[in-house]
Amino acid sequence: MTNQHQIETKLIRTQTPTSGHREHSTSLYMTSSFTFENAEQARAMFAKEEDGFIYTRYDNPNVDEFVAKMCELEGAEDGVPVASGMSAVFTALAGLLGQGDHVLACRSVFGSTHQILTQILPKWGISHTYADIHRPEEWASLVQPNTKMCVVETPSNPALDLIDLEWLGNFCNERGIILLVDNVFATPVLQNPLAFGAHLVMHSTTKFIDGQGRGIGGILVGDQKYIDDIRFFARHSGPAMSPFNAWMFSKSLETLCLRVERHCDNAERLAQYLADHDSVNFVKYPHHPSHPQYELAKRQMKRGGGLVTFELAGGLEQGRAFLDSLEMLSLSANLGDTRTIATHPASTTHASVGEEGRLAVGITNGMVRISVGLEHPDDIVRDVEQALERSLSKISQPVLA
Ligand SMILES: *Cc1c(COP(=O)(O)O)cnc(C)c1O
Repeated sequence: MTNQHQIETKLIRTQTPTSGHREHSTSLYMTSSFTFENAEQARAMFAKEEDGFIYTRYDNPNVDEFVAKMCELEGAEDGVPVASGMSAVFTALAGLLGQGDHVLACRSVFGSTHQILTQILPKWGISHTYADIHRPEEWASLVQPNTKMCVVETPSNPALDLIDLEWLGNFCNERGIILLVDNVFATPVLQNPLAFGAHLVMHSTTKFIDGQGRGIGGILVGDQKYIDDIRFFARHSGPAMSPFNAWMFSKSLETLCLRVERHCDNAERLAQYLADHDSVNFVKYPHHPSHPQYELAKRQMKRGGGLVTFELAGGLEQGRAFLDSLEMLSLSANLGDTRTIATHPASTTHASVGEEGRLAVGITNGMVRISVGLEHPDDIVRDVEQALERSLSKISQPVLA
């Protein structure tokens, strides 16, 4: 592939060389190790004097192809594939930080990232401070002399609040802080944090990248010097991505651009429907003009993405009634699937943090998150419509927005 080719072409035409049978579609290399021609080649490969596959915990042709495509997508020098999105977050933190280091993170980070920061890293003397994404003026005062890394997520889950990546890129680069961005919600098709000065981007490939709800995986891509340290940590601690999952994700990338366009079309349609509905207090969708950060969303995201969040006027009770009234949409914790999925964060993913904790990250009791899938938009809207009506009739107190 040359730089002349567009990303859609590169995602289809970047391929590991065939295994000798002239197969058109890349084969699956389910092998834990590779053989050497002779003792000299084994020596040279271990000494990194000669390129070649040695062992699948280090590298594998399917994994290699997948990483090459992800680097093209994010404009990255290199990448490290791992077994899950969380393993990507942990591998970045554990591979780059040590005793006495400090992390500045946005308060709205993903639930398991919060558990790593609060329950796991303190065991090795790594501390953190949370910053509010709506108060960037406070961030400078939260930086400590030992702050080595900044971890953020934009748009955030599930409130879909944004961080200004250009501002944050400058903030971190001026202070010598490594910036890691969780880019799962935006997808690499719509937003590229490295272009704004971030040093590392992480993806849970479980979500839009697989896009069909089949496999768990993760990847880190970014600047060579950080990726080298992370790769060292990953090779020897062993959170390797399986060749099967890499093969599947690489196939999925062939259709990623098409799928993301359709996720966005369907999400825009649903966001507009919800914005016009009487029992909806507000809808949050980055490219809907009612989003408080609409201008920023237009600047840093090509389109609004596949997630829509909205608040039901009937609070917790209507939120649960809405979920119980859905006929087609799935109730599931996943997102970025072909199937549209609804979740009620206050009673599930964010139940344990309490109402005060939820409000600090913009989650209200009546908030529902929808990961808009690829079904026909008429069918998605129809199911939401009937569930809104039935949820209103099920609750004890009638509400008017
Ligand atoms: C799912 C998700 C993760 C974790 O990824 P896994 O593949 O489930 O380990 C991290 N961040 C965000 C925003 C996610 O949606």
